[in-house]
Amino acid sequence: MHRPVLHRPALTRIRQVCSSPRARAVVGVLALLAVTTFAPDRDGAVAQPTADGEDGGAGRNVAAASPAARRTGDGAQDGPAPPVGTRDSHPEVQHVLGLPPTASTSRGGPSAGSLEGGVPFPLQAEGAHFNPRRDARARYGTVELVQALLRAGAAVHARHGGELVVNDLSLISGGPIAHHGSHQGGRDVDVLFYTLTAEGEPRPSVGAPLDLAGRGVDFQDLSVAADDVPVQLDVVRTWAFVEALLSDPDAWVQRMFVARHLRQRLLRHGRRAGASRAVLRRFEQVACQPGYPHDDHFHIRVFCSVDDLAAGCRDSGPMPPWHRARLASAGATPRMAGPERLRAPITTAAEARRAAGPMHPDVRAWLDARDAWMRPPAGPGVCR
Ligand SMILES: [Zn+2]
Repeated sequence: MHRPVLHRPALTRIRQVCSSPRARAVVGVLALLAVTTFAPDRDGAVAQPTADGEDGGAGRNVAAASPAARRTGDGAQDGPAPPVGTRDSHPEVQHVLGLPPTASTSRGGPSAGSLEGGVPFPLQAEGAHFNPRRDARARYGTVELVQALLRAGAAVHARHGGELVVNDLSLISGGPIAHHGSHQGGRDVDVLFYTLTAEGEPRPSVGAPLDLAGRGVDFQDLSVAADDVPVQLDVVRTWAFVEALLSDPDAWVQRMFVARHLRQRLLRHGRRAGASRAVLRRFEQVACQPGYPHDDHFHIRVFCSVDDLAAGCRDSGPMPPWHRARLASAGATPRMAGPERLRAPITTAAEARRAAGPMHPDVRAWLDARDAWMRPPAGPGVCR
């Protein structure tokens, strides 16, 4: 049986206007202006001076939302959902979904690791794709992580339409990777939030920072006001992604780095939508805001698998009791990474701002407002 045509992701790709070197440079500045140096936070997530800042523009999603998503806007769908992650017609996806978890091996920790047998995140799958604006060499992950993302993207697509946009994972053999302090062992990935227009219509995801109301602006060229497009968090689809990922028994999610206010917004929606207590609780446990605010994307990290632990994979903290119990039942014990050396390039806010060039006044005002959630006080939703 074929999937309903309505649910096929649109294959048309829209070339974004942000293509000049200067325009590419400016997009990083959004992430930079509130910080002057980039130190790793205690969770090993690193303030990502260019790449994750670049997500605002260089990471712009260019795939259209599915026709179904465009038409309904609220997740309504006709016809039964196909079994998730099993019927994808893309050969690359079928191949990846068929791999045994032992086909890849992550060694070392997130910030001093390597990857063997890593699999590339597909350029196009059912409800998910690697962001074509990112370097395709940075799309390798463990079999477990790539499969989990594919399943979650397909689940959201089946329920609501829309496309998960996946940014950097790791290089083919892992190790140091430009613009990231971690992302070394195929167990880290950045994904964009699902996005709506200001009017609430689905639109391609964009790495625009989102404010306390879940709203942002796709500024495109920061010096030009005329091309600014207001956007907002698509809380329905983004929560559906969280729910799919965290209820997947084979997705061993350790962390979802995300700004505290977006975490709260997602939790509020999940409670209202009747999400299971187990999923809500797990999201509370794994989601937190590290030093870099992550108001424009999730950074997701998965634990070492049992076979990777035996091969030298090492988890960074935290090691929660529920994961210890999971390992124990699989006959394994936690193995923790030692202190890891930060290899992320250091870019100062001043340098980034110089590279960005002129900004129109709305951009400057928006960046000033961003201070409100840059450094939340310690407490729930803030990584310890
Ligand atoms: Zn990241």
